[in-house]
Amino acid sequence: MDTESFNPIVTSEQQFNRARLYINHLKSGLVDFLIQPKHINIINFPIELDDGSVKTFRSYRVIHNLVFGPGKGGIRYHQDVTEEEVVSLAKLMTWKCALVNIPFGGAKGAVICNTKELSRNELRRITRRFTAELVAQIGPNTDIPAPDMYTDEQTMAWIYDTYDTLNPGKNNRPVVTGKPIELGGSYGRTEATGQGCLYVTERFLSKKLIPEITAIAGARVAIQGFGNVGSIAAQAFSNLGAVITALSDSSGCVYSESGLNLDEVSAFKKEHGCLIGMPGTLSLTNEELIESDCDILIPAAISNQIHAGNAHNIKAKLIVEAANNPTTPSADAILQNKGVFVIPDIMANAGGVTVSYYEWVQNHANEQWNLDEINSRLKKKMYSCVDLVFKRWQAFLVEEDKATDKETGEQLPCPDFRTVALATAIERVANTTLMRGIWP
Ligand code: NAD
Repeated sequence: MDTESFNPIVTSEQQFNRARLYINHLKSGLVDFLIQPKHINIINFPIELDDGSVKTFRSYRVIHNLVFGPGKGGIRYHQDVTEEEVVSLAKLMTWKCALVNIPFGGAKGAVICNTKELSRNELRRITRRFTAELVAQIGPNTDIPAPDMYTDEQTMAWIYDTYDTLNPGKNNRPVVTGKPIELGGSYGRTEATGQGCLYVTERFLSKKLIPEITAIAGARVAIQGFGNVGSIAAQAFSNLGAVITALSDSSGCVYSESGLNLDEVSAFKKEHGCLIGMPGTLSLTNEELIESDCDILIPAAISNQIHAGNAHNIKAKLIVEAANNPTTPSADAILQNKGVFVIPDIMANAGGVTVSYYEWVQNHANEQWNLDEINSRLKKKMYSCVDLVFKRWQAFLVEEDKATDKETGEQLPCPDFRTVALATAIERVANTTLMRGIWP
């Protein structure tokens, strides 16, 4: 029987503990500070629904770490979201910002709600009330939300408007990123996470670690999730000549051996609200998508999709984690043994927070950069992130950078890319904490 834990706190602590083995001189007294969130804000608030009834919603805003700058992280609306998940996602934001070297700390927020059962007006009331409850916490220089699952630029526009109404007379645009262009949003922000996935993959393939896949063109790509990130990634990969064999949403997966036509998929989704049943395609489940025949697998939906129960059956040679936490630690070990490379979430989906940072900079300066400028900066950032992690991984591979078990003294095996990326990020946060000096 599979007894693997899907608890996000357990996952993030396992990942942290593994990365820690490869960090020299991490002060043990700092570990709790690095693992624990700085603070967790839990807010229950009532909303009047369209039918006149009242419903109470539970929500969270977690700050994990502020060593590098204001808190940064998306807001998720989902019926299954838990406090543990929000904490682990806030932690990922800390490591992600540290890895790509942008001056933000880690934060995340969520409202437990099913957006499919709520009207636009109800969602607006939920968003405004949630923002008002957080008005003393969020701010252009304290904590800056962004979109995540089931929130979008409209949600961000409501957050901005609410915050601005309650704090008149200031430039409040940098309080939230992922806004509509007309409200100070950045060109390229909506596309940034999917586009960033492409840049990261492109650079990774250029290292020639996978002899069977040397370029995006011709690669067979399966993508789980057809929301903001999944649909943009599909288009970006397809534009460079990849064959998109599978796409899915929460209803299931459509598959075509010879490749899906993305315009037809989008039109079908628009008309029917789901992908399943599209003519000329095979219907698979989301579980079958993970094991489907492809070169590159891109999980772009929810967590824990690649686990001990299916990792052995994965046919892809490269996994690009567009979603946060899609792979469990047990699956990581299985994939490493199988020789499947994983570009971890904190690299693969860092394009989103990178362009969020560009939006924040533009808002502070009251400027608007053009799309070419954004994409060329994004590409440079993503490429240098891959180069940094690859170089350190290579040093472990050729044993220049030997790591030994601190208890047994035995040499540790070459780590996977997640461990190298996390070790790099954790080290940066730890070193910067000490550089700032422990208060008081
Ligand atoms: P979204 O709400 O736009 O899309 C989510 C997609 O996942 C939808 O297609 C939905 O149908 C699908 N989905 C939902 N439940 C599913 C299930 N049980 N099985 C399979 N598919 C399911 O969200 P998004 O913004 O595209 O985010 C997707 C992932 O990317 C999340 O893990 C998010 O944390 C991560 N991410 C997003 C951003 C961003 O900029 N939006 C940045 C970094 C990371």
